[in-house]
Amino acid sequence: MAAHAFQPSASAILGNMSNLLPDLETLYKDIHAHPELSMQETRTAGIAAARLAEAGYEVTTAVGRTGVVGLLRNGQGPTVMLRADMDALPIAEDTGLPYASKVTTKDADGKTVPVGHMCGHDMHVTWLVGAATLLSQARAVWKGTLMVVFQPGEETAQGARAMIDDGLLKRFPKPDVVLGQHVMLGPSGTVAGSSGPITSAADSLQIRLFGRGAHGSMPQASIDPVVMAASVVLRLQTIVSREVAATDAAVVTVGVLQAGTKENVIPDEALIKLNVRTFDASVRKHVLAAIERIVNAEAEASGAPRKPEITPLDSYPLNVNDEAASNRVAEALRGYFSADRVHRTGPAPASEDFGCFGTAWQAPSVFWFVGGTDPQTYAEAKAAGRLNDLPVNHSPKFAPVLHPTLETGIEALVVGALAWLA
Ligand code: ZN
Ligand code: ZN
Repeated sequence: MAAHAFQPSASAILGNMSNLLPDLETLYKDIHAHPELSMQETRTAGIAAARLAEAGYEVTTAVGRTGVVGLLRNGQGPTVMLRADMDALPIAEDTGLPYASKVTTKDADGKTVPVGHMCGHDMHVTWLVGAATLLSQARAVWKGTLMVVFQPGEETAQGARAMIDDGLLKRFPKPDVVLGQHVMLGPSGTVAGSSGPITSAADSLQIRLFGRGAHGSMPQASIDPVVMAASVVLRLQTIVSREVAATDAAVVTVGVLQAGTKENVIPDEALIKLNVRTFDASVRKHVLAAIERIVNAEAEASGAPRKPEITPLDSYPLNVNDEAASNRVAEALRGYFSADRVHRTGPAPASEDFGCFGTAWQAPSVFWFVGGTDPQTYAEAKAAGRLNDLPVNHSPKFAPVLHPTLETGIEALVVGALAWLA
């Protein structure tokens, strides 16, 4: 099988991994204990840049504020881009780990917030430092150009865009393939992915509904935005259940519903913030149009004095794995790992700005998942039908087990890159 042709060089390179692991484990714990919010990743970016320079890469910093690009030109051959995101979340960590974050900082609005690496981007940074170091040490067994990208601001959908807007495409060589990975719920030691859509498009909207305030004892003098908002929230539930085909998928979640300050005062307005996930461009268009239609119609039905104000908050594109490139990655991974460690998984209702790079460069891209759950814990939860009880990304208790999650992510990146460079 062609895949096995990649194995000797991958094994030669990864044979050196065990020497690096103690240092990488220390690096991971350090980044974990020092998380930084989106677009503020100066310390993490500094570490990534120093590690790349040490490993012999040409390093460019401050690409899209805190982004770092490392280039390793190693003769004629394809250019492979490997990407990791660096940012943490405004979440108070509750893992109880000895290296848990106790950090607080000011967010973009100047509010003091806790910060924690509850999406595992600290693992992504460590994987990429490890893979970049190993590939540099083993320059003799591959040819081409390796482009290593540490991006800021994934959690706010700003970072990939910021790097592209800062001239990424003009300043660096066009990759033949863009590869990235994310730590996820799943047995540690396994990887999972598929061709086609791999993460959903996500759109967040803010909706202001306008009514007319009055004394709580005189509802006839009001146009009650609380009732209006309640109707909107309930009616929004009919989009997925009544307007999206059973063979399509979508999520509409209202995460914020706010109105009023006192029990006997009917307020002037109500605020809704919602999040939409879709896996198909036409479904996305339909769902967004349906939201607008329902919000306007409910306001009209209430006799609202003003049309609702609908403001987009952020938007992540649909992330689609190129078919030929993902087959190539999957074959290489199956050639290196045993087949039972490489799983197929449908698109995840999570979102990522990773797809921006491939789209902007018009280059194929492949994104996959690396399990971070203790295999025993995972197997027991699965047998008991309680997988939903395990902490997932963005939970204050999300904590990937270090081994073999650390090893598996480094191996997957190296094997993926060598599918082009070997
Ligand atoms: Zn996240
Ligand atoms: Zn993430």
